[in-house]
Amino acid sequence: MYDLLIKNGRLVTPDRIFEAEIAIQDGKYAAFLAPGTEVDAKEVIDAEGNLVFPGIIDCHAHLNEPGFEYREDFETGSRAAVVAGCTTLIDMPLNNDPSLMNKEIFDMKMGKISKHSYVDFGLWGGLVGDFDDAPDSVKNNMADLEDLQKLGVAAFKGFTCPNGPLFPTVNLGNVRKALEILKPYNALCGFHCEEYGQVLEMEKEAKAKEGLSRDEKIRAFLDSHDVWTEYVATKNVIDMARATGGRVHICHVSHPMVAQVVKDAQHEGLPITAETCPHYLGLTEDFVFEKGAPAKCTPPMRKKEDMEKLWDYVLDGTLSCVGSDHSPAADEEKDNETRDIWKAWGGLNSIQYFLPMMFDMVVHQKNLSPTLIAKVMDYNPAKIFGFYGRKGAFELGFDGDVVILDPEKEWKCEQDKLYTKGHVSCFDGFEGKGTPTCTIIRGRVVAKDGKYLEEANGYGEYVTPIQ
Ligand SMILES: [Zn+2]
Repeated sequence: MYDLLIKNGRLVTPDRIFEAEIAIQDGKYAAFLAPGTEVDAKEVIDAEGNLVFPGIIDCHAHLNEPGFEYREDFETGSRAAVVAGCTTLIDMPLNNDPSLMNKEIFDMKMGKISKHSYVDFGLWGGLVGDFDDAPDSVKNNMADLEDLQKLGVAAFKGFTCPNGPLFPTVNLGNVRKALEILKPYNALCGFHCEEYGQVLEMEKEAKAKEGLSRDEKIRAFLDSHDVWTEYVATKNVIDMARATGGRVHICHVSHPMVAQVVKDAQHEGLPITAETCPHYLGLTEDFVFEKGAPAKCTPPMRKKEDMEKLWDYVLDGTLSCVGSDHSPAADEEKDNETRDIWKAWGGLNSIQYFLPMMFDMVVHQKNLSPTLIAKVMDYNPAKIFGFYGRKGAFELGFDGDVVILDPEKEWKCEQDKLYTKGHVSCFDGFEGKGTPTCTIIRGRVVAKDGKYLEEANGYGEYVTPIQ
């Protein structure tokens, strides 16, 4: 007798879609059966011919706890995530206070977040450097990296551009040192790539201009984060991978010129991986002019031809993961009335429509196979962040994670109804087709038909890389 049987599903893997029934026992996949096989199970879920994914991993999400719970905490962020079909997310070490930079902070953070996560979660450890006007207590955590590695963080995250005193920017010396320290562990270091000097100088010049109109300010913001900042920072950290042999991951690649740098490095045999986000694949800088503050993020959205070209690099595997980069804010931090583009929070409220938006773009707009979703939003992140063996595929003994998705079901993002703490989203009013109807983590339903199950609060487990 199995605990759970999911029947009448079309299972989606990176290679193919096939009909099979999934039996789950003790939270793990216990059997994959031919359709119609008679077996006993305590609970049966009928997938009704819909698509079934072996989970969705969001490799890049900021849930803001501890420190900025007024923007988001693990409870609100993770309930929105499971409604969107996410079964595992990897939380960023910022925007937090304190940022996750040593064992003491890890213990404190885990004490808080493990109590109320709906979703299984991994953690990015912080990689902070010597830049910025920050107190010494939060600078340079090179001596703490091995501790964090032993605590099972999935990867380390560093910022190459000005980022404020809570998460001091890394210089190239810090990058090099971190890669040297972490190479023996085969650990992954991910970077927000925008080159410090260019951003600093161009922002300073742009902000000093007086009397600019709203649109002129937006133009100046976009220009001070242009592709050259991203390109140079990406080249720099790749060179540090070249120098040390350490594994580097380029976060949220926004532009094909940057993706080409990644591709060249991969062809050279360097240990480089990279991700992009739905907003770089579906939106352009025109959208920033249209929406203003709610659409501010860095790197910013690019021109239409760049957005279209970026797809080539997802399809050829250069950009092997797609993450949400959910970076929530309080409503007033995204308010066009009181904040111009410079003062607005930089980051998007995106987690609750992460899978629906990607599915609509991939399947309905681009006419591509849902197998691409399984690849870039589950299998590849599991492989890169070390969860494969437990997550990322329909394999016996892996966690019984299941996302049932109705490919034709229509959805509309209405910001007032978001389960996140903040309610201003630039995706308000977006519509599409294809949305999850059931999210199951380790054999247990955590969300159904657009609603999270309250009793799953605190069910989410900490997931660590399998060595
Ligand atoms: Zn981010």
